[in-house]
Amino acid sequence: MKIKTWVDKNTCIGCGTCIAIAPEIYEFDSDGKAKAKIEIIEDPNLIQKARDAEVACPTHSIKVEEIKD
Ligand code: SF4
Repeated sequence: MKIKTWVDKNTCIGCGTCIAIAPEIYEFDSDGKAKAKIEIIEDPNLIQKARDAEVACPTHSIKVEEIKD
C-alpha cells in the first residue's frame, strides 16, 4: 500500500503539531506553514505517522490519500 500526503496551505496555521508527530515527513516551509518533504510513502511506519498527523491536525490540513496500484 502507498499513500500520498500533502498540506493544504489555505488552512494550515503553522502550529507545528504534524512536524512534532512526523518530522520525517513534514517540515516548516519558508512561509511558516507546514509542507510535506516526501509526498509518496510506502513504509508502513511512516504511513501510520502520516495518519496520526492527519488526525491530530487542528485544522484538518494534512491530507492523506491512498494510491491504488
Ligand atoms: S498540524 Fe496542521 S495546522 Fe499545524 S502545522 Fe501541521 S498542517 Fe499546519
